Amino acid sequence: MRINVTKSSLPDFKEYCDEIRPIWESFQLTNNGPIHKRFEAELEKYLDVKNAVAFVNGHSALEAAIQSFHFPEGSEIITTPFTFVSTVNAIVRNHLTPVFCDIKDSDFTIDPEKIESLITSKTVAILGVHVYGNVCDINAIGKIAKKYSLVVIYDAAHAFGVKYKGKGIGAYGDISMFSFHATKVFNSIEGGCLTFNNDTYKRKLKDIKNFGIDETGNCYEIGGNAKMNEFQAAMGVCNLRHISEYIEKRRVVFERYLSKLDNVKGIYICKKDIVSTSNYSYFPVIFNNYKYSRDEVYKKLAMKNIFAREYFFPVINEMKAYLEYDCGNTPKASFYSKHVLCLPLYSDLNLKDVDEICRIILE
Ligand SMILES: *Cc1c(COP(=O)(O)O)cnc(C)c1O
Repeated sequence: MRINVTKSSLPDFKEYCDEIRPIWESFQLTNNGPIHKRFEAELEKYLDVKNAVAFVNGHSALEAAIQSFHFPEGSEIITTPFTFVSTVNAIVRNHLTPVFCDIKDSDFTIDPEKIESLITSKTVAILGVHVYGNVCDINAIGKIAKKYSLVVIYDAAHAFGVKYKGKGIGAYGDISMFSFHATKVFNSIEGGCLTFNNDTYKRKLKDIKNFGIDETGNCYEIGGNAKMNEFQAAMGVCNLRHISEYIEKRRVVFERYLSKLDNVKGIYICKKDIVSTSNYSYFPVIFNNYKYSRDEVYKKLAMKNIFAREYFFPVINEMKAYLEYDCGNTPKASFYSKHVLCLPLYSDLNLKDVDEICRIILE
């Protein structure tokens, strides 16, 4: 049987049917319907944030977040190349320039010690990514942002449910984006949200996802259509009911990998810091001077019908569409992208299969 790097979490079929049944009575399929409203309220509670605005997907949410600040065209946003391409595409699609900053060895998040030297008169924001659910150096980034009056946006696509110093991760920075894509820890089929403390952002963000139209029907901002529909919201409501169970099952899988692969020469596994909780979203392994290269491990597993993922490879500043941009100086990001492999991790992955995956890697 084929094992993929991830498998979507689904509620019971009947549970979902019960949730969507009212749609047949109300005929409201989308446009901020009752399930959507309930979902946003439940998100605020679970994520432990003041405001949550749902979107059709995480990428559109991030684009809207950046748009909402109205940065002058050509402004620079400092970000990491060690991420999914969505992060940087969201900058460029807003007619802004990405400036690539290298990452830390310890957890692969943006290195705050390298940010300051990249700041110019055009810099307007820092876009950090809580990659694999590892929390960025929020304090250091916050200090730099304050000193230079920069906006801080976090791509928290990997960090659903993560807490930092006892607070929801989405409460830090100016705005955070979560993704509810089918492949993520938590899904609403496709979906995403923005979270923020500043109540005055709410109206604007809700309007941007609806063409930029206000209550009177007047368009005051060039928005697109990024609304979440009722069927997505229903899936979100169902999955949110089971999220603790999904994460707990992931923890068991994660710990099993750790017990087999930790302290093996040539294998590096990033350990959680002590001030944040984990959602066990990914199990990235760095193969560095191991008896097999990353690509060899990938092939060994693939021969047994097990599909790990070279995530993130290549790094963004080495991708075709980005060759015309200044790729900066990011040797660590480039190195890790060539040595990292994310092993299969999802809530109902059998421990027997985990043992087999480890056996193949270690044999
Ligand atoms: C998944 C992901 C996104 C995009 O989210 P979608 O919901 O798929 O649009 C953005 N950034 C990162 C780091 C992601 O992993």
